[in-house]
Amino acid sequence: MEVVFNKPYLTGKEAHHLARVALSGKLSGNGQYTQMCHDFFQQRFGFRKALLTTSCTDALEMAAILCNIQPGDEVIMPSFTFVSTANAFLLRGARIRFADTYPHYPNIDPESIRKLINEKTRVILVVHYAGVACDMDTIMAMARQHDLMVVEDAAHAIDSGFRDRPLGGIGHLGAFSFHETKNIISGEGGMLVVNDDRLVSRAEIIWEKGTDRVAFSRGEVGKYVWKDIGSSFLPSEITAAVLYSQLEEFDEIQSKRKQVWQTYYEYLRPLEKRNLFNLPRLPEWSTVNGNMFFLMVRDIDERSELLAFLKQEGIHAVFHYLPLHSSEYFRPRHDGRTLHHTDRFAGGIVRLPFYNEMTENEINYVVNAIHKFYSKT
Ligand SMILES: *Cc1c(COP(=O)(O)O)cnc(C)c1O
Repeated sequence: MEVVFNKPYLTGKEAHHLARVALSGKLSGNGQYTQMCHDFFQQRFGFRKALLTTSCTDALEMAAILCNIQPGDEVIMPSFTFVSTANAFLLRGARIRFADTYPHYPNIDPESIRKLINEKTRVILVVHYAGVACDMDTIMAMARQHDLMVVEDAAHAIDSGFRDRPLGGIGHLGAFSFHETKNIISGEGGMLVVNDDRLVSRAEIIWEKGTDRVAFSRGEVGKYVWKDIGSSFLPSEITAAVLYSQLEEFDEIQSKRKQVWQTYYEYLRPLEKRNLFNLPRLPEWSTVNGNMFFLMVRDIDERSELLAFLKQEGIHAVFHYLPLHSSEYFRPRHDGRTLHHTDRFAGGIVRLPFYNEMTENEINYVVNAIHKFYSKT
């Protein structure tokens, strides 16, 4: 059997919606489909303001502008994340300070953040790894105390929550990804969520090349003019139409993905009990959104052997982020601190094949192969 790592799920309605875009003659951004997507997210999750972007990378770049980052300002973030989390702020001249994760989960540890806060700190950036919530109560309280902004990189975290609050909707700003490796997809795509009232009108301007074209399109101003810095962050209606076809099936997609996650968990739990590896240990405050499923094995050597073994069995499992603080680009810029827990997760995480239409049979096959690996060693 061959089990691939990811299969982007399409609903079958894409062609219909794309044809409507073509017939409408309106292909550029902020049209009807973009509006329908914004409405969906605002209604469903109560987000103050949703703005589709061409990627999560773009949403993070907008966030960095909205945080008013000046050269030398410090931003605290995890090292165990994707490059865009850091790049967006580096582009504005920020100094990145990498915090460590918890020992038992690859999310940023508020105690590690606390040690890095100084008079230059402006932003705390959290990543909800695999859709599992960071400790937002503690982090928001810390931010209030020191007058800092909080940005949530919620690329993995659509439809997940910190207790009953949606992730991406708690910090001042939240950034989502609709890249085809995420839960809800449009090929490339993303969204900035603005939760702070004071940032909404500036966000619209930055989104539209620094102009007030959004206000103009609502008829609020007679012509649109250059107001601020900005870029072309909005996607075309073509992207929004593909995203909309996913939103029509949002609940079905999410229930399938959560089922895959649950099945993995149940089938692997007996093996974890024999201390062969660890499964994700969820904090009591987090929900699960079926973003991905991973194991944590003893060390990098065991991981290489397991990945090679699974590959022989036709199973494409993968590791994840190389920590940013020890990357080729950043190592010379890092302050030299060792991030023990981050390094352990970077060496030990095994991500298992995960996609909406994964059958119980396929999950069983993966679980049995893992079992086989540990029986022979
Ligand atoms: C995927 C991802 C991104 C980037 O998303 P794009 O939409 O591809 O730009 C950023 N941060 C994290 C944590 C991600 O997983």
